Amino acid sequence: MSENVIELKGIQKVYKTGDEDTAALAGLDLNVRRGEFVAVMGPSGSGKSTLMNIMGLLDRPTAGSYMLAGQDVSRLSVGKRAAIRNKEIGFVFQQFNLLPRTTVRENVLLPTIYGKDKQAAQRVDRIIDEVGLSDRSKYRSNQLSGGQIQRVAIARALVMEPSIILADEPTGNLDTKKSQEIMNLLKDINAKGATIVLITHEESVAAYADRVIRLIDGVIAGTEAAS
Ligand code: ADP
Repeated sequence: MSENVIELKGIQKVYKTGDEDTAALAGLDLNVRRGEFVAVMGPSGSGKSTLMNIMGLLDRPTAGSYMLAGQDVSRLSVGKRAAIRNKEIGFVFQQFNLLPRTTVRENVLLPTIYGKDKQAAQRVDRIIDEVGLSDRSKYRSNQLSGGQIQRVAIARALVMEPSIILADEPTGNLDTKKSQEIMNLLKDINAKGATIVLITHEESVAAYADRVIRLIDGVIAGTEAAS
C-alpha cells in the first residue's frame, strides 16, 4: 500500500502575539504514506510542535491544505475535527500525565469511555499485553517506572485503533536501554500497519524511522532515508 495518508500542501501557521506575527510554519509540503514511519527533527522553534498539532487536528493552519486519509480536513469545525481525531489519531507525548490514583487499566480505558465504545473496552487487555504491561495492569500510576508510564501512554494511544500515531519525544525522559525498548515497541506497532510520525532530538531515535525530515524555520530543509 503506497497511498498517502497525510498530504500537507503549502501549510502556513502564523501566530499573532501583540503586533508581532510569527510564521511557525512557512509553506510546508509533506506527504506521509500509509504504514510509513517518519521522524521529524529540527532545532527548537523550527515548527515541530506546530506541525504535530496541525497533523493531529488539534489546530488549523492559517493557509494551505491538509488531506487526511483522502478527506480535506483543512477547514473543518472543532467538533468535526475532534470526531476524526478520535477515530484516526493516537497521541504519545513525553510529558504524559497519568491520572494519579488510577490503575494502568483504567488509564488505558480512558479514551474508550469518552467515546463510549464497548468493543474498544474489550481490546484493553490485549493492548496492555502488547505493550508488555499485563503484570502491571492493576498497578497505580505512582507504582510505575518512567518506561512503564511511557508504555501506558502508548497503550492509551492504541486503544481506539488509530491509523496514525503521533509521538512527541516519546523517549525524552528515558535512559538508553528504556528508549530502545520503547522504540522497538513503536517499530512493532508500525510493522502491524500503523503510520507513525515522531518528533525527536536524538539521531539514535530517528534511526528507527523509514525517513527523517528536518525542519528549519517552518519549512522542510531536508529529507533522508534513515539507516
Ligand atoms: P518546536 O516544536 O520546533 O520547538 P514550535 O512549533 O513550538 O517549534 O514553535 C515554532 C515557532 O512558533 C516558535 O518561534 C514559537 O515561538 C512560535 N509559537 C509556537 N506556538 C505559539 C503560540 N501559541 N503563540 C505564539 N507563537 C508561538
